[in-house]
Amino acid sequence: MKHVIIGAGVAGITAAKTIKEMNRDAEVVVIGDELFLPYKRYLLTEFLCDSIKRDELLFFSVEMLKELGIKLRKGEYVKSIEPSEKVIKLHHCEVMHYDKLLIATGGSPGLGLVLRPFKKHISFYYSLYDTLLLKEKLPEVRKCIVYGDGVSCLDLICVLCNLGKQVTYITREERATFGLDEIDFDGELHEFLEEKGVEVITEEQVVSIEESEHGYKVETIQQRMLTTDIVFAWDYYKPNISCIEGSAIEKKLGILVNTRLETSEKDIYSAGDCVEIYHPNIKCYWINFGLPNALAQGEIAGKNMSGQNEEYKIQEAIVFDLMGKSLKARWWK
Ligand SMILES: Cc1cc2nc3c(=O)[nH]c(=O)nc-3n(C[C@H](O)[C@H](O)[C@H](O)COP(=O)(O)OP(=O)(O)OC[C@H]3O[C@@H](n4cnc5c(N)ncnc54)[C@H](O)[C@@H]3O)c2cc1C
Repeated sequence: MKHVIIGAGVAGITAAKTIKEMNRDAEVVVIGDELFLPYKRYLLTEFLCDSIKRDELLFFSVEMLKELGIKLRKGEYVKSIEPSEKVIKLHHCEVMHYDKLLIATGGSPGLGLVLRPFKKHISFYYSLYDTLLLKEKLPEVRKCIVYGDGVSCLDLICVLCNLGKQVTYITREERATFGLDEIDFDGELHEFLEEKGVEVITEEQVVSIEESEHGYKVETIQQRMLTTDIVFAWDYYKPNISCIEGSAIEKKLGILVNTRLETSEKDIYSAGDCVEIYHPNIKCYWINFGLPNALAQGEIAGKNMSGQNEEYKIQEAIVFDLMGKSLKARWWK
């Protein structure tokens, strides 16, 4: 039985390990488009701050992967899936057969129409590659602008503050918000950031970014002109599901799955940040970004691909650490 997993992140690697634990003889192939050994994305912040070493980011060493019998194809992008033939196509047109397939392709930050032309001036903070670039750049950086919303923006602001940078945070909202329903964050985020020395500019939008002699000039919709050494910006965070285009796999914003994490196509499962699952509390399909969700779904997908019949229960919340203060948050009331 050949189990193919697209995506070498938390959900994909957890599923691969689970399948091998259930059946040592199962063939497991993990295909990931990043160039690195599978790593723990949620620890990038610790790595950027030098609290952990690069090795500690890894799920497995090469020796451990061999020992477990998991075949890793790294630096390979899956272009399309043909459920009727039970095959996937890789970017260089290799065709690979599967008996059971897991799509665990996560999500990524993206830019809308206004900022897209300035992409080359914008720094991202999502992957190990981004983090390695930042580790090189940041020693030269004094002033930073962060534009966007949500927990990942806040996580980045906290890292930059911890590293002693001068941070300006620009948000479209009236106040700095989590973009989430926070369950136990003591106090108001807006005041918390200001107390930490962050300049918060509200009800504003970045409309242009130009390179200047010493960094960048940033213009806002209300014609503020700001200068900075580095600009971080993203407009949204979206599931990576281009590999299902052209297939009959049902989707909305993410891939639709039932509580067994089965997609609309036989023998194809999906797990992690790329998934949309029915949420009984809000009575609608919903994406549950975050580590607890990716871990739990990876394990259940792995078990069900091995013939079990387990149901996924929505994780109550994600937990972030914001400058030593714990944020427990969820996407629904
Ligand atoms: C800096 C940072 C800090 C975070 N901290 C926290 C935290 O404290 N708590 C928390 O709950 N969450 C945190 N998160 C979020 C958490 O890391 C994600 O929710 C989790 O990694 C999702 O796991 P996943 O397996 O679904 O996707 P990912 O870990 O994103 O893995 C998906 C992988 O699939 C690859 N891929 C995509 N498309 C293809 C394709 N077509 N072919 C091959 N490969 C493909 C991607 O490149 C990626 O490597 C953090 C995220 C970041 C960026």
